[in-house]
Amino acid sequence: MNAVTFTWSHGANRYDVTPAQHGGTLREFARFVARHRAPSKARAGYICAPLGNEGHRKAANALQRAWLALDVDDIDPAAFVEWRLHLTRWRGFGWPTARSSPEAPRERVVIELSDEVSRDDGVRIGDLLQRDVAENFGVAVRLDPCQFRAEQPAFLPLADAVPFYLLGDPLDVPTWLAQAPPAPPPPPPLDEAAAELADVRMRCLLGRLQALRLLRAPLHNHEGYALHCPWVALHTSESGVTATAVLYPSEANGWRGGFSCLHSHCRGRRLRDLLALVSAVETTEAEHVD
Ligand SMILES: [Zn+2]
Repeated sequence: MNAVTFTWSHGANRYDVTPAQHGGTLREFARFVARHRAPSKARAGYICAPLGNEGHRKAANALQRAWLALDVDDIDPAAFVEWRLHLTRWRGFGWPTARSSPEAPRERVVIELSDEVSRDDGVRIGDLLQRDVAENFGVAVRLDPCQFRAEQPAFLPLADAVPFYLLGDPLDVPTWLAQAPPAPPPPPPLDEAAAELADVRMRCLLGRLQALRLLRAPLHNHEGYALHCPWVALHTSESGVTATAVLYPSEANGWRGGFSCLHSHCRGRRLRDLLALVSAVETTEAEHVD
């Protein structure tokens, strides 16, 4: 089979933030890793999940991939043979890491998955793999959970490292995910309809404030507009230029927008007070026109 079933990123060294994108069969993936063995740990490149957008190595750019890397941090030499036998259930390949020694073996393993997984599902399967390893080996084998993050670099072997190959089956993604606890709830999503309304209301309000000559200047942080306070008659002291401001909808104000005036008489006033005042002024003006 010549289909491209694996895609991966290759960083030329640890500082490479925009790794090159590659694809191929499992055999080609394994050969690629073997061919990119490094003369020293400092010069080792890495692989990670394929990356989209502008290609920077970060979580938001991680694309789906049909493999997971295991960073096996700590293997009790007494459990080493059992561990390797355990691995043979899967299909993939691995290599001892730069810090590996017979007294303290450490290795990286690439396991083939039956399906491509998202970054989140990769982490969920990783949690299950850790549980599986803990059930079978206790503390004799330890996996680094960070390695299950798609964007985490898996450093490539050194020149003298001898790779090994696993001839079992791809890890069956649906079966494993069915055992995974549900993903934690995402942060409360922005209600798009409400945000749209707040946005329209804000633009409308700014237009009216402009017409009423109450707008002063955009805030330096681009988060709102400094105003002449409409309640300035109640202020007991002079205003700083940005003492009074209307704030654009943002995460900080729940995407509703806001109003703030630092003068003590205005402390309790909110955006709704400003909206009410502006619409009251307009009603009065409309009555005059009639
Ligand atoms: Zn005020």
